[in-house]
Amino acid sequence: MKHRIVVVGAGYAGACTAETLARRLSPVDTEITVVNAVPDFVQRLRLHRLAAGQEIEAPKLTDVFAGTGIRLRVARVTAVDPERRTVTVADADGGGELGYDTLLYALGSRGADHGVPGAAEHAFDVAARPSALRPRERLDGLARQGEGGRVLVVGDGLTGIETATEITVSASQQHLHRARRREPRPCAASPPPARLARLTETWRRHKPDTTAHRPMVTRPRS
Ligand SMILES: Cc1cc2nc3c(=O)[nH]c(=O)nc-3n(C[C@H](O)[C@H](O)[C@H](O)COP(=O)(O)OP(=O)(O)OC[C@H]3O[C@@H](n4cnc5c(N)ncnc54)[C@H](O)[C@@H]3O)c2cc1C
Repeated sequence: MKHRIVVVGAGYAGACTAETLARRLSPVDTEITVVNAVPDFVQRLRLHRLAAGQEIEAPKLTDVFAGTGIRLRVARVTAVDPERRTVTVADADGGGELGYDTLLYALGSRGADHGVPGAAEHAFDVAARPSALRPRERLDGLARQGEGGRVLVVGDGLTGIETATEITVSASQQHLHRARRREPRPCAASPPPARLARLTETWRRHKPDTTAHRPMVTRPRS
C-alpha cells in the first residue's frame, strides 16, 4: 500500500513542500494529496497591493501542480483526528474524510484585532484575499463618487508600511494618517536593503502624516 501524505493548506508552505516532496519521492510508493479551501494560489504577501487597487496574479492550483502527480482537493478542513489519522473536509458536495500516514499542517494564519475595541466591527484587514478586497471596494466607491477620504493605517510593521505606501501611491490625493502604538524600532526580521530603500524612498516622497496613539476604532467603515 502506498504511503499517503496529506498536506492541508496550499499557501507558500504547503504548496512548496508538497511540490518538493513530489519531486523527491517516488509515485510508485507515495501518494500526495493537497487540501486547500480555495482553488487559487493566494499570494498573501501581495495582498496590500490588492487592497490598494492593483491586480495580483492568482494562479490556479491545478496549474501549479500540473505534472507533479499531486492530487488536489478543494475543500475546507474542519477537523483532524490523529488517533484515526483522518482529516475531515467540507465542500460543496458535503465533504468527507481523507486518511493519511503523514500529515503536513500548513493552514497559515489569520488577521488578529488584538482586542482593540471596535476593530473587529469597523476596521479592514489585509490578511486574506476576501478581507483585502473590502477596503479596495470602499476606496473604489469613494473614487467613483469623486469623494476624497482619509485612510488610517494602524500598525507600523512592514505590512502596515507597505499598505500605507501602496494606498498613497494609488490614491495620491488622499490624506493619509498612519497610527502606531510605539516609537519606531528596528524590525526583528529586516527586509532586504534594496526593498527597504525602495519603501523608504516611496514613503519619503509621499510624506504621509504620522501620529502615535493607542488605537481605538469608533467610527463605522461605511
Ligand atoms: C499583506 C501581507 C504582506 C506580507 N508580506 C510579507 C513579506 O513581504 N515577506 C514575508 O516573508 N512575509 C510576508 N507576509 C507573511 C506571509 O504572507 C506569510 O508568512 C505566509 O503567507 C505564510 O505562509 P503559509 O503557507 O504558512 O500560510 P498561507 O500563505 O496563509 O497559506 C495557508 C493556506 O491554507 C488555506 N487554508 C486556511 N484555512 C484552511 C482550511 N480550514 N481548510 C483548507 N484550507 C485552508 C488558505 O486558503 C491558504 O491557501 C505578508 C502577509 C500579508 C498578509
